Amino acid sequence: MDLAELSRAELEQALAAIGLPRFRAAQLYRWIHRRGVTDFSAMRNIPADLRARLAREFRIGGPAILRTDVSTDGTTKLLLKLEDGREIESVYIPDTPNQTFCVSTQVGCAMACGFCLTGRMGLVRNLSAGEIAGQVRLLARETGLSGAPFNIVLMGMGEPLHNYDAVMKALRMLYDEEGLGVHPKRVTLSTVGVVSGLERLAQEPDMPNVAISLHATTDEARDKLVPINRKWKIRQLLDQCRQLPVGTRRRITFEYVLLEGVNDTPEDARRLAKLLGNMRAKVNLLPLNAAPGIPFSRPSDDRVNAFARVLADAGTIVSVRKSRGRDIRAACGQLIVEGQQKT
Ligand code: SAH
Repeated sequence: MDLAELSRAELEQALAAIGLPRFRAAQLYRWIHRRGVTDFSAMRNIPADLRARLAREFRIGGPAILRTDVSTDGTTKLLLKLEDGREIESVYIPDTPNQTFCVSTQVGCAMACGFCLTGRMGLVRNLSAGEIAGQVRLLARETGLSGAPFNIVLMGMGEPLHNYDAVMKALRMLYDEEGLGVHPKRVTLSTVGVVSGLERLAQEPDMPNVAISLHATTDEARDKLVPINRKWKIRQLLDQCRQLPVGTRRRITFEYVLLEGVNDTPEDARRLAKLLGNMRAKVNLLPLNAAPGIPFSRPSDDRVNAFARVLADAGTIVSVRKSRGRDIRAACGQLIVEGQQKT
């Protein structure tokens, strides 16, 4: 049994089954999740004979680092190998004051958004809860941030709401105070807009922040850019967003990738402001990160700023996402692992 796949309650049960008390589960959970230890022999506060017994009964799995790329801006991309040989990428984005870890939720992605490289892979498989939480554990260990506050964005490879149970279990594992003790408000789940998943998310006691990849203001345009729009239209998506319990302190982020001549006119900006008018929303503009094979171009900075100005003038909170780590292909939509596309 792989202990890194277990919540703390499950770990307590697994240890109880071989006659061990609860405090051993808390100790093990700390070693695995807070300290990132994968070898029982390193667990100094557990007696040697018990460590040997644990090593016979259990194992501690998780992703392993294959390669580390560091951008000129400090962004660091990890290429990780999973136990079945599949590969994924995770990214550390340093900034002041915030440190952010961007993690993957699937190998590849089924959503096939027209401007995203990960979409080219198709869906290879879902990640397990241990593989999702394991990326954070590795990033925290590699950056020395295990004891410090950091943000987590589920914006790497994959669509988190297509792997709902594993994603939520991973978040509960990360929230656990015997583990990394991440606060739900430091987590942002980015989704293409899987309405059934948003319905479930609205019921979660510790809902993370939510970001919606909107990217268009008419169904005609969104049908082409974000194919899931053919199933759930903009109106349905926004109605469901209004059901999310964001309270009075938080806002839903609407991500909007700017594609030159496609969705970047002042008219689009006005429609966007109107769509979000009566919601606790903020807009995050993502000027396209261009890549070979992506049939769109990035608008000029002037055009991006003009779009942002229309939104701001209409009273919409707007920011422009800084593109980080483009030189190492770590920026939004650039995560792809070649050679393991779905066959
Ligand atoms: N599947 C989730 C999370 C993954 S991507 C989602 O769709 O939200 C995180 C963000 O990067 C999404 O808003 C996505 O649309 C955006 N993105 C994808 N490709 C991009 C590109 N080439 N340039 C800029 N942003 C891109």
